[in-house]
Amino acid sequence: RAALDDFLDGRFPEPAPRAGRSRLVVLAGPTAVGKGTVAAAIARNHPEIHLSVSATTRAPRPGEVDGEHYYFVDDAEFDRLVDAGELLEHATVHNRFRYGTPKAPIDAALADGRTVLLEIDLQGARQVRAAAPDATLVFLLPPSWDELVQRLVGRGTEGEEERARRLKTAKVELASQGEFDHHVVNDDVDRAAAEIAALAH
Ligand code: 5GP
Repeated sequence: RAALDDFLDGRFPEPAPRAGRSRLVVLAGPTAVGKGTVAAAIARNHPEIHLSVSATTRAPRPGEVDGEHYYFVDDAEFDRLVDAGELLEHATVHNRFRYGTPKAPIDAALADGRTVLLEIDLQGARQVRAAAPDATLVFLLPPSWDELVQRLVGRGTEGEEERARRLKTAKVELASQGEFDHHVVNDDVDRAAAEIAALAH
């Protein structure tokens, strides 16, 4: 608890924004922090920012549209994308489905002078850092550790074991925040979205 509270209280040094960051912006953060909601708010409030659409092998949820929320592909097609070098990064998330970022739309948007936002997991963020060292990496933080615990366990649908597993994952994910260029607290969705959009300009 102690180390975690330290950084949540802001006692962790914030790395100075590095000069020469590109308009390729990666948004990552711990499980249940609300990355997807914040990314959706950025897309809604800042239509000039290009929100990357990932490929995934998971099935669409009700209401999800192919080509809009994700490109829904099967394993064979995902393999083809990987083999053809068409993905900037890709990872298996939560030990289940595969997700990856198509490279061509990003290159096109950057060439147009647009800001590009990727909402991806930690493994993906690290791959982007390696492939594009000047990318801007943003870590979304919960307002407090207790709040994250509430969001993780609040629904009460998971058993004790699953809850413990998720909390452990969240701690590991939080421990990676020093690798990021900016830290944004998700205390209010529109405020966090505005802060991230401002970083990208
Ligand atoms: P969901 O299936 O709930 O939409 O997403 C599950 C997780 O996959 C989220 O943590 C999300 O950030 C991550 N994710 C979505 N797209 C990508 C991607 O293209 N690459 C990586 N590495 N992770 C992704």
